[in-house]
Amino acid sequence: MAQNDNETLDVVLVGAGIMSATLAVLLKELDPAIKLEVLEMMESGAVESSNPWNNAGTGHAGLCELNYTPESADGSIDIKKSVTINTQFEESKQFWAYLVEKGRFGTPKSFINPIPHLSFVRGQKGIDFLKKRFDALTVHHAFADMEYTEDRATLAQWMPLMMPGRDPNEPIAATRVMAGTDVNFGNLTQSLLAHLGQQNDAKVTCKQKVIGLKRSGKGWLVSVKDLQTGHLREIQAKFVFLGAGGAALPLLQMSGIPEGKGFGGFPVSGQWLRCDNQDVVKQHHSKVYSQAAVGSPPMSVPHLDTRVVDGKTSLLFGPYAGFTTKFLKRGSFLDLPLSIRFNNIGPMLAVARDNFDLTRYLVKEVLQSEDQRLETLRGFYPEVKAEDWRLEIAGQRVQIIKKDAKKGGILQFGTELVAAEDGSIAALLGASPGASVTVSIMLDLINRCFAEQAKSEQWSSKLNEIFPALGAVLANDAERYREVQARCDALLQLQQSANA
Ligand SMILES: Cc1cc2nc3c(=O)[nH]c(=O)nc-3n(C[C@H](O)[C@H](O)[C@H](O)COP(=O)(O)OP(=O)(O)OC[C@H]3O[C@@H](n4cnc5c(N)ncnc54)[C@H](O)[C@@H]3O)c2cc1C
Repeated sequence: MAQNDNETLDVVLVGAGIMSATLAVLLKELDPAIKLEVLEMMESGAVESSNPWNNAGTGHAGLCELNYTPESADGSIDIKKSVTINTQFEESKQFWAYLVEKGRFGTPKSFINPIPHLSFVRGQKGIDFLKKRFDALTVHHAFADMEYTEDRATLAQWMPLMMPGRDPNEPIAATRVMAGTDVNFGNLTQSLLAHLGQQNDAKVTCKQKVIGLKRSGKGWLVSVKDLQTGHLREIQAKFVFLGAGGAALPLLQMSGIPEGKGFGGFPVSGQWLRCDNQDVVKQHHSKVYSQAAVGSPPMSVPHLDTRVVDGKTSLLFGPYAGFTTKFLKRGSFLDLPLSIRFNNIGPMLAVARDNFDLTRYLVKEVLQSEDQRLETLRGFYPEVKAEDWRLEIAGQRVQIIKKDAKKGGILQFGTELVAAEDGSIAALLGASPGASVTVSIMLDLINRCFAEQAKSEQWSSKLNEIFPALGAVLANDAERYREVQARCDALLQLQQSANA
C-alpha cells in the first residue's frame, strides 16, 4: 500500500552515475553540513553510461580525437576545442588527486591508468591534415610532447598489432602522446559514492525511482517510488540535480521550467567489438583514434583501445552506432515517443529534415553484418581473426535537439547544462565529451546554481585548495600547467608507460 512520508533536504541528486556522484562529493567538500541524497532506480550506481563497458573509458584530453581540431575554410587548424577539453581534463585530475591525497579513496590504479593516445590516418589527404594538426597543436604547451611519424619502423614500434599485413604502399602516419589515460568511470563513480556514504547527512539509495517533481516554495517536492516495496515518499529539497543520463530529458520536462522548453532527445545506441585473448591484447598498448567516415557524426570516430577494467586488460574497437527509441540502455521503447511535446516537435522535425546524412549513416550501421564490422576493424588491424572478438552492447547517447532561430532546430553533439533562472534545479543533457569533463561541468553548475555560496570565504578557499589552477590559467600559463600536471600525475600514479 502506498504511503506518503515527508523529508527535508538541501540537495537531491537523481541518478547515481559519474555526474551526480561528482557533484555530491564536491558539494560535501565545500560545505560538510549540506544534507543530501542520491536516488538511483537501479540496483547500484554506475550501471548505465558510467559503467566501464558502456563507454570507451578514454580520458578525453584532446590528444588523439581528430574531430576536436577541425580544418577551417582557409585550411588552418582550429585547436580551441582541444585546448579547452585538455584543460578541463586537468581540472578533473586535480579533483581526483585531491581525493586520493586526502586518503580513504582507494588506489588511483583502480580508476585511472596511463595509456598512450595515438591519432592514425590513411591516405595522403589524411596525412596532410595530421601534419598540419601536429604543427598547430605542438605550439601549445599542453601538446608540446606530441610526436609525429610516417616512418613504418617507428609506427611498428608504436602500434605493433596494427602494422603486420598492411599494404606497404599505402601512405599512413600517426601522432603519439605518451601522457594519455584510460579511465574506469564505473570504479571512479563507485569510489565517489563510497566516499559519500562515509559522511554524515549524505545518503545513496538504490531502487528509488523519481516519479514526480513539483515546485514547492523556493524549492522542489520530489516524489520517489521504492521499486522493491512500492512505498512512496516525498522529499522537500532546496536544490535538485537531474543527473539521470539519457533520462534527464523527461525529468526536465516533468519540472516544467521554461528553460527546458524546446529541448528534445535523439538516442543513438552503440556496439563494440571486444577482445580478451591475451596473445592479441599484449600486442597493443594505446588508444588509437582515426577519422570518421565522410557524412558520419562525431561520435562515430573509430578507435582501437586498450582497456583496463578491474585489473584485467582487453581491447575494444568501435563504436558501431545503432538506433533505438530508448533513452537508457535499460530504458523503455516508449522513451522517445513520450518525450515529444508541443514545444519540441518543431525542432525535432527540423533536425529530421536537415540531418539526412545522419539517418543514412545510422541505417547503414544498423544493417551491418558481422563481416562488415570486421572489415572496418581490418582497416586498423589487418590480420584480425573473427574468433578473437565478440560483440558488446555499449551505453545509450541521447544527443540534444534544441531550438534554433535560423533552422528551427539543431542537433548538438556536446553536453548542455540546463538550469532554472533561480538556480533551484539543473539538468545535464547530452553525452560528449562526457565523463572526462564532469568536474568542469559541475564547477559551472556551482557557479550558476550556488552563486552566493561560491563567493563566500568558506567555499572559495576550499575551491582554491582543491583546484590550484583552473582552465584559463592552465590554458595560458605553461609553467603553472606543467607544475600542476606533474603534481597530479604523481598523486594519480600516472607515470608514463612505453610501448610493449
Ligand atoms: C558509447 C559511449 C562511449 C563513451 N565514451 C566515453 C569516453 O571514452 N570518455 C568519456 O569521458 N565519456 C564517454 N562517454 C560519455 C560518458 O559515459 C557519459 O557522459 C557519462 O557516463 C554520463 O554520466 P551520467 O552520470 O550523466 O549518466 P549515467 O551514468 O547514465 O547515470 C544516470 C543514472 O540515472 C539513473 N536514473 C535515470 N532515471 C532515473 C529516475 N527517474 N530515478 C532514479 N534514477 C534514475 C539511471 O539508472 C543511471 O544509473 C561515452 C558514452 C557512451 C554511451
